Amino acid sequence: MQAQELRARLESIRTALAGASEGRYAPPKVIAVTKTHPAEEILPLAEMGVRDIGENRVQEIVEKLPLLAEKFDIHLIGRLQTNKVKYIIDQVCMIQSVDRLPLAQEIDRQACRRGLTVPVLVQVSPAGEEQKGGMAPEEVRPFLETVRHMPGLSVRGLMAVMPNTPDQAYLGGLFADMRTLFERMREEAPQGVAMEELSMGMSGDYLLAARHGATMVRIGSALLGARDYSK
Ligand SMILES: *Cc1c(COP(=O)(O)O)cnc(C)c1O
Repeated sequence: MQAQELRARLESIRTALAGASEGRYAPPKVIAVTKTHPAEEILPLAEMGVRDIGENRVQEIVEKLPLLAEKFDIHLIGRLQTNKVKYIIDQVCMIQSVDRLPLAQEIDRQACRRGLTVPVLVQVSPAGEEQKGGMAPEEVRPFLETVRHMPGLSVRGLMAVMPNTPDQAYLGGLFADMRTLFERMREEAPQGVAMEELSMGMSGDYLLAARHGATMVRIGSALLGARDYSK
């Protein structure tokens, strides 16, 4: 995609986000999801004021890192295998997909070895789609109680991946549920836990997510185009 086209897409996304919540919430930050796109397609985003990018595979992060590390902060947004934590622990600014205790324990272990505290989000599955990752909403509170004692990670909020459906009313209900959970956890947050970020909304539903109080939206195809698997 031409840089000009990319800039136009980014501007229209930002403009739409600015008005989406009708003043109820601040517009969310755009995380540009750059998975499957080569570094040369991603680099122009830096000149357009994009600092935060999302990637979902450890190997792809490791491969693209030498070209991207200087200009971007990388958020890991995909399912993370415990045995791969060590490859990216000191390369990403945030791990958004922490959804089970063994993963939190491994992040803590690897971070402590390096003297780091890694910002993380707790991934929730509001629709009960466990295969996509994410814990049930009622599991969040006890999970926070356990991980708040881990010095190697610092919980900053919640993340959700919504079901793939065109049903806006259903999706709107799930986004609202997530915002309610986020606010409840913020009120009840045990010491050592911060509830600042609510990462939800993708290319098909980011305006709906913004309307319901997302603080971060993760936008891939609407920004960088459909992924081309033929190359
Ligand atoms: C790929 C991906 C996105 C972005 O998806 P698009 O529909 O292309 O915007 C967001 N979040 C996660 C977890 C993803 O894997």
